[in-house]
Amino acid sequence: MNVSLSSADADPYSGARELMVERQLRQRGITDERILEAMRQLPRHEFLPPDKQEEAYEDYPVSIGWGQTISQPYMVALMLQLLEPAPENKVLEVGAGSGYVAALLGMLCSSVYAVEIVPELAARARQTLKRLNIHNVHIIHGDGTLGYPAAAPYDRILVSAAAPTIPPPLVEQLAEGGKIVVPVGGRVYQTCEVGTKMNGELHMRRSIECLFVPLRGEYGWKDNI
Ligand code: SAH
Repeated sequence: MNVSLSSADADPYSGARELMVERQLRQRGITDERILEAMRQLPRHEFLPPDKQEEAYEDYPVSIGWGQTISQPYMVALMLQLLEPAPENKVLEVGAGSGYVAALLGMLCSSVYAVEIVPELAARARQTLKRLNIHNVHIIHGDGTLGYPAAAPYDRILVSAAAPTIPPPLVEQLAEGGKIVVPVGGRVYQTCEVGTKMNGELHMRRSIECLFVPLRGEYGWKDNI
């Protein structure tokens, strides 16, 4: 049967995405309208491998291969809300994974540098962003615990993997008055910490409990888990 596609059919997931925003985010206390709108617009399924796309809008993290996951939508929204992204900000993300969070940051801020340690994931994230015509997000393959000095300083830094402690290069590369959000703690649970750099020093406050995959690299976890 040959049917012409209406614009609603062009994105079969737009309804699921709307429900995700209302039920998983707004009803649980995400209030930042810019974040809600960005998550309503960005096609999250495009960041998943074809066999996982049907799970894109579920209320849990989804595997993206190489032992890594795209974070649960609610966790993404909470981290972004803690980061308080502003349109003029330059942002560093550590742990680009699928590129989904980096793309959201690209919608909320002026430019994004996102570092990913697994080369295949970095390559795939780069392709996805190109396909979606997102041009202000740069994916860099490397160890993000060293930051990305070439584009420093950053107004905002988001660490998307669990760190044993805050990597010192990230503190150095954070601009004065800038904010960093990072899950710190054990490998089973962590606490999301929010730091603000004032007079060259980081002032931390602890926020919610969270659960992320381990950060590797120079200032990450050393052993294989
Ligand atoms: N923000 C991602 C999901 C993050 S999962 C998304 O939107 O899909 C955490 C990612 O951090 C994984 O892809 C993992 O490979 C990466 N990672 C772990 N240690 C890292 C390091 N030292 N530098 C850069 N990336 C790292």
